[in-house]
Amino acid sequence: MKILVTGGAGYIGSIAVEKLIEAGDEVVVFDNLYQGHREAVHPDAIFVQGDLADKTAVDAVMRTHQPDGIMHFASYTLVGESVQKPFMYLRDNVVNGANLLESAVAHGVHRFILSSTANLFDDPERMPIDENERIVPGSPYGESKFIMERLLYWMERLYGMRYACLRYFNACGATAERGEDHDPETHLIPLVLQVALGQREKIVIFGDDYNTPDGTCVRDYIHVADLAEAHILAMRALDQGSRKYNLGNGRGFSVKQVIETAREVTGHPIPAVIGPRRPGDPDVLIASSETINHDLGWQPKYPDLRAIIETAWAWHVKHPHGYGKD
Ligand code: UDP
Repeated sequence: MKILVTGGAGYIGSIAVEKLIEAGDEVVVFDNLYQGHREAVHPDAIFVQGDLADKTAVDAVMRTHQPDGIMHFASYTLVGESVQKPFMYLRDNVVNGANLLESAVAHGVHRFILSSTANLFDDPERMPIDENERIVPGSPYGESKFIMERLLYWMERLYGMRYACLRYFNACGATAERGEDHDPETHLIPLVLQVALGQREKIVIFGDDYNTPDGTCVRDYIHVADLAEAHILAMRALDQGSRKYNLGNGRGFSVKQVIETAREVTGHPIPAVIGPRRPGDPDVLIASSETINHDLGWQPKYPDLRAIIETAWAWHVKHPHGYGKD
């Protein structure tokens, strides 16, 4: 298939591109490079620098390349930032997302995979969280993804679009060539590894008074390569119907467990101090991915936190300052 990947220069998008190319698909990347890295784009992908706000550019890509399907990764992704800048999130994730949908419909592109989020589940009634959980977006970011999920529902009803919404829990890890390089970095695992690289003095644990066994937040860490595989399987299955899947490992690890595992992997003491809670962090978020396992046979190849951190560490050692800076 020929797949248009928006955000294909970003962390998860670039690894999906790598896996698509390994699977024999043709890939066109559309990315404005605000957050992504040109070096992260697989050399066999066609790269178009452009912004989803620019409807003419989006239409031109659609017309020129006539993709069979779209994987839509391009968006802002930080819960905390979205509380500070709600309109930026609504404009980028929703308005620009609607541009992409309108262009897809106009050019007869009827397969669409949306990067969605665990932030749809701010107040879960059951753990692990399955697809029947009620949706309570935890921030303007989560809301922006929920609006995109709803728009896709209407795209199917009105235009016959087939779609999959993939709600990621905590994406992490790296492949040999591609890893996590955000500026500024806010995610736990890369920050911890920056301490091990000597780039930061310590890691601050955001609160140790949560209702969890060791008092620190518990999250479900899923390897990006496993996420990428889920996208490919979902894209191939769309002709049998639209779908929504929660994507995680099904196992939770606390912040303290992540730091301890990183100490084992890196051999560095990684000093840690307790700081205040970060607003908006729930105690525990663990996915049930039984539905995608049942429907598509997907299961994580990296169920083990240590193996995940090893892949991230290998990438960080090779690229201590990120893409293009060494
Ligand atoms: N966290 C932390 N210190 C940091 C960064 C993150 O204690 O410097 C915690 C955060 O509160 C959360 C977990 O690590 O419980 C994972 O956070 P991250 O930002 O990586 O992902 P999120 O869960 O926000 O998607």
